[in-house]
Amino acid sequence: MRADKIWLDGKFIDWDDANVHVCTHTLHYGVGVFEGIRCYRCHDGKSAIFMLNEHIDRFFDSAHIVQLDIPYTKEEVKQICKEIVKVNKFNECYIRPIAFMGDGQLGLYVKEFKVRLAIISWVWGAYLGDEGLANGIRAKVSSFLRHHVDSCMTKGKICGHYVNSILAKREAIAAGYDEAIMLDTDGYISEASGENVFMIRKDVIKTTPLTSILPGITRAAVIKLAKDMGYEVKEERFTRDELYIADEVFFTGTAAEVTPVREVDGRSIGQGKPGPITLKIQKKFFEVARGMHEEYRDWLTYI
Ligand SMILES: *Cc1c(COP(=O)(O)O)cnc(C)c1O
Repeated sequence: MRADKIWLDGKFIDWDDANVHVCTHTLHYGVGVFEGIRCYRCHDGKSAIFMLNEHIDRFFDSAHIVQLDIPYTKEEVKQICKEIVKVNKFNECYIRPIAFMGDGQLGLYVKEFKVRLAIISWVWGAYLGDEGLANGIRAKVSSFLRHHVDSCMTKGKICGHYVNSILAKREAIAAGYDEAIMLDTDGYISEASGENVFMIRKDVIKTTPLTSILPGITRAAVIKLAKDMGYEVKEERFTRDELYIADEVFFTGTAAEVTPVREVDGRSIGQGKPGPITLKIQKKFFEVARGMHEEYRDWLTYI
C-alpha cells in the first residue's frame, strides 16, 4: 500500500509526510467519517471513478450524522478525488477520503475543533482475493451483532463503528472462514463486516432492506442492474437458515465488488461454487464499471 502523494488539508504532500499528532481526537474516540471509492480502467483505456457523486453525497451524509462540518464543498472533494488519481499516475485505484477531528483538546466534549480532511489513494486488488472473486468465499455468521440502530448510526461510514466489524471479521478468520455475516438485533441477517448481503432462491433475489445496514452504493447499483436484467429483486429481511438453503449468495461492496459466497457456517450454498445468476450480475457489474454499457455511463466520472 503506497502512492507518491496524499492530499491533506488543502495540498498534495508526500506519502511519508502525511502524519498526524497522537492527540488527534478521532484517534482516541472514533468520531470521523470516511468513504471507499474505486476508479477503474475502462475498456477504451481511459480511467473512470465509479459512482463518485453518490460516494461524496454519502460522505457528507456521514459527516452530518456525527455533526462534523467538512470545510470543503462536495465539488471540491470530487475534484481532489479526480486529481489524486492523476497525481499518482494510477489508472485503477481505490480512493479513501477521511474527515476527522484534529488535535488541541481531548475529552468527549470539545466545543471548538478543526475538521481535517485527507484523501488517500492506492492500488487495491480484489478485497477478498482473486480466488474469492472467481470461486466464491466461505462466510460465518458472527457472534457479534450489527449495531442496534438506536445505539450506533448505521447509515454512515463512521470510523469508530468499525470496531464492531473488525471484531466480527477477526472471529470469522480465526474460525477458518473468509468473512463474517452479522445479524441485526432482531436476529435477521444484517450485512457482512464491510459488504451487503444478497441471496437468490428460485430465481428471486433478496437483499436486506435499509434497516440496520450501511446503504451500499454497490448494493444500489446491483439492484438496478438485476432489475434491468429482468430479475425480481425484493428488499426484505431473511434469516440465517434462509441463507443455508439459498441457491446462491453473494456480497457487494466497493472493496469486495461482487463476491460470490460458496459456503455459510459449514453448509455449502447451491453447488458450492458461484451460481449462474451471481456470475451474470458480476460480469455485468464489471462491464458497467469499465464503461462498456452506454446506458450506465452517467455512473462514471472520467478522469
Ligand atoms: C462500505 C460498506 C458497505 C458497502 O458499501 P458500498 O457503498 O457498496 O461500498 C457495506 N457495509 C458496510 C458496513 C460498509 O462499511
